[in-house]
Amino acid sequence: MEVLSSLDDLRRYRAGLAALGVTCGLVPTMGALHEGHLQLVDRCRDLADRGVVSIFVNPTQFGPNEDFDRYPRTLDADLRLCEARGVDAVFLPAVTDVYPPDVVAVQVEVPTLSADLEGAIRPGHFAGVCRVVAKLLCAVAPQVAVFGQKDYQQLCVVRALVADLMMPVRIEALPTVREPGGLALSSRNRYLDGEQRQQALGLYKALQIARTLVEEQAAVEPEAVEAAMREVMASHQMQVDYAVLRHPRTLATLDVIEPALTGGVVALVAARLGQVRLIDNLLLAVPA
Ligand code: AMP
Repeated sequence: MEVLSSLDDLRRYRAGLAALGVTCGLVPTMGALHEGHLQLVDRCRDLADRGVVSIFVNPTQFGPNEDFDRYPRTLDADLRLCEARGVDAVFLPAVTDVYPPDVVAVQVEVPTLSADLEGAIRPGHFAGVCRVVAKLLCAVAPQVAVFGQKDYQQLCVVRALVADLMMPVRIEALPTVREPGGLALSSRNRYLDGEQRQQALGLYKALQIARTLVEEQAAVEPEAVEAAMREVMASHQMQVDYAVLRHPRTLATLDVIEPALTGGVVALVAARLGQVRLIDNLLLAVPA
């Protein structure tokens, strides 16, 4: 496995792949890798001749009061996991590689998908995500990039970014990988103590309530489903940021859950447990 510690290293490696005529896949991450990331890696290897994992804790997507400094950094373990999983190259840019001080900043944004939900709670977050994803896609020039549905709004934003900027890359999305009890794997889970891990199951249980109400009981009122989700989360001592049902592609609010929603609806939840903020989501089918 090649460890590419600078943009120059990446460019040399990428030029080598081009010379060989082989395809390249990219899995962008912020490190602290877990099985969720590694399943993206497996898929990437299925879809491309060479798989690159980028590990970069992107400062521009963190707000001033967020956990950029506290974000887990476990590089040695990450490299071991990547090697064991057959990753061909890991790209570890420095902040100055991605944001050189002498370069005039360009802003790329997807305003209609970024204002609400995570964007409302984390102002500027998606501007940072768009900027770093655009930079990584330009620098690595992969034929395919693999993302998790765990960050559902981010996935919608990235798809829109790539489509509107006509970037020649396929975006592949994978379902959320969960612990046996349902908790979505997340780099931030390591900050949960034993009691909080139990409380964190409130997210998954809220999504399951939504699934039962929409798919089995054919609920039609989004507000009723959202209230039920909030109640479950609150009963797990979670501080609810949001618990909503939205259109799965536009993330628009819904007046009614109706069969015309052939792509289903997405339930999105976010909550805090002490200092730890967790998000999750589930795609729900709407009965015909
Ligand atoms: P992060 O390192 O948190 O920025 O995540 C990097 C990529 O891994 C993103 O595309 C995430 O959506 C994805 N990811 C994170 N957690 C999971 C999970 N539990 N299952 C599947 N994908 C995940």
